[in-house]
Amino acid sequence: MKRTLRVALGRLSLLMVGVQVRLLARRVGSAGVLVLDIDNTLADTWPSLLPGVDPKDRLARLEPLPGMHAATVGRAGDRPVVYLSHRFLWQAPVTWTWLRRQGYPVRMHSLMLVPTAADKLKPLGSLAALGPVEYWDDLSFGHEHGEVQFYQELIDQVRAMPIAFHDFQAISDTVDAARGSEE
Ligand SMILES: [Mg+2]
Repeated sequence: MKRTLRVALGRLSLLMVGVQVRLLARRVGSAGVLVLDIDNTLADTWPSLLPGVDPKDRLARLEPLPGMHAATVGRAGDRPVVYLSHRFLWQAPVTWTWLRRQGYPVRMHSLMLVPTAADKLKPLGSLAALGPVEYWDDLSFGHEHGEVQFYQELIDQVRAMPIAFHDFQAISDTVDAARGSEE
């Protein structure tokens, strides 16, 4: 895809996120909002990026990470749920379908796709201004190359926000506990 088109679609997705935050402003009560990343948080994404894996329907066929549904939307109560994901706008339909299939509630305001990981900060700040935010995100990359790396600058900025942040370790612990209880 041409870079100019990619940039234009990225801008469009950020405009949409702005509209979604405004829609949410009417819905967020005193209990606040639950914000969830998708890749390597709800979905076991990195194995799908290994060489030799058929890229066709990759996103549609992602396995859910065990325990994550129960730990997140299972405890959401009546809080709105937002999926804040570094994915392309044209991946919205497959993302929407995957979430629904895995039992995650999706509404017009809840699927926020951003063109870079750093673009998560602004909506997080806007949501934190509406009420308490509980946020699950691995904020990591590169697993498929054999070494987990972190968006450390982003992590530091999230930690500086008034947000209940569940990081890579919290996600790993949740998944390990769920896998342990399956055995
Ligand atoms: Mg992720």
